[in-house]
Amino acid sequence: MGSGALAASLAGRPLPVRAAEPDVIVIGAGAAGIAAAKQLQAAGRSAVVFEGRGRLGGRTFTDSSLGPAYDAGAMFIHWAERNPWTEIARELAVATPNESWGGGFQLFQSGKPMPAGDRARRRGAFGEIDRRLDNADLDARDLSVAEVLSDLSPDLAPVAASGMLLSIGEESARISARDYQRLWAGEDYVVPSGYGNLVTRYAEGLDIRLNQPVTAIDWSGSRVAVTTAAGTLRARACIVTVPVGVLKAGAIRFTPDLPARTRDALAGIGMGALTKIALKVEGDRFGIMPGTTYFEAGAAERLISFELFPGDQDIVIGYCGGDFARALSTAGPDAAREQVVDLLAAMIGGEFRKAAGPVSFPAWWVDPFSHGSYSVCLPGHAGARDILAEPVGGKLWLAGEATAGGGAMTAGGATLAGRTAAAAVARLKA
Ligand SMILES: Cc1cc2nc3c(=O)[nH]c(=O)nc-3n(C[C@H](O)[C@H](O)[C@H](O)COP(=O)(O)OP(=O)(O)OC[C@H]3O[C@@H](n4cnc5c(N)ncnc54)[C@H](O)[C@@H]3O)c2cc1C
Repeated sequence: MGSGALAASLAGRPLPVRAAEPDVIVIGAGAAGIAAAKQLQAAGRSAVVFEGRGRLGGRTFTDSSLGPAYDAGAMFIHWAERNPWTEIARELAVATPNESWGGGFQLFQSGKPMPAGDRARRRGAFGEIDRRLDNADLDARDLSVAEVLSDLSPDLAPVAASGMLLSIGEESARISARDYQRLWAGEDYVVPSGYGNLVTRYAEGLDIRLNQPVTAIDWSGSRVAVTTAAGTLRARACIVTVPVGVLKAGAIRFTPDLPARTRDALAGIGMGALTKIALKVEGDRFGIMPGTTYFEAGAAERLISFELFPGDQDIVIGYCGGDFARALSTAGPDAAREQVVDLLAAMIGGEFRKAAGPVSFPAWWVDPFSHGSYSVCLPGHAGARDILAEPVGGKLWLAGEATAGGGAMTAGGATLAGRTAAAAVARLKA
């Protein structure tokens, strides 16, 4: 894309669909779509990327609407030793230090610091939970995480539930334990200058058309026809990287419909609801060290973990997941702010209310371009990701984090999935 077109596109003006057919159309300019387009470009194939939002990055998004910047979506470069973003960041001279929460971890029970004995028991619980999930024998039958952990003692069960809500973003009964076992582990790095900013930078030089939601894909002919409000563009192949939530919501009409095998796989994958609520804090830090985590273990029905003053900035980030996050997303930013301020005032003291500023609440669950945080295989459906990654009719590839096997749910996995799809497409005869 020429610099004029990029400027127009980034300014949010829809560009007219050009008459010239590209080799490939990519749908979505998140990590997967950008990686796919880069790979195609490197292979000498032309690609047009249609992006529904007015910005790049998808579920990686460095939000600076409150002044201080934080990553509202992906923040950690998980399994960094083999994550493509470690290498990309190095190439772009972007620092990616090892994860550090800096200020430590404080546990509260109904607004009061938790006694040391209870804290130690909870810490021990995480090891026990991991052991059970790693060692569960699921060869004969996939179970939910809740089923695998069903005989935990009553005081440890909430620890397990909260761990799942804040990592997977979903209730334990709706998580396939077999899929969970498959997820890759490793070092976590962070991107202090913003993971979203890094992904956006990586997209430089691609032909990306912003503000162009795709509404229909016709793959009945020899070429794939992709329709946006600006018209219809054809190509030899199409890589679809929109989130599973968008596909399941029927936002894109496929002609003919996706095969039953693909639709069944989609039915076996839900979207979690990991959600961040950012609150500006003005004038006082109450002696709390930057990067401290506050976790209220007593508020099981409204579980939020807080990172205070990350990166030495005047901001607090609340993390929540599952059905509570869904309810909050539906209720909107004012309700989210009230919950966050109430919980923090109980832990820090009533004076916190005076320092509490505006909120930023990118509620992924109600966002029409994501419909959730990331894909979660339902119990009994651990094979769905691999089926979803199978090419459709030799013309259509679904890619993105949901198709990333052990790398699922992450920006790194999305990138690998995008590259895999692009490599297959690049091998096609024109
Ligand atoms: C709160 C939160 C925290 C997270 N934390 C981490 C983390 O720490 N580390 C990590 O690795 N991952 C994390 N993730 C997950 C990570 O962000 C995603 O797995 C990854 O970014 C997905 O990339 P993708 O390209 O598959 O999808 P997306 O980034 O969603 O890209 C798809 C693109 O398609 C676009 N689109 C949707 N519908 C249409 C349409 N009809 N037409 C055209 N375009 C459309 C979307 O706007 C989007 O830009 C987190 C996610 C959330 C929400």
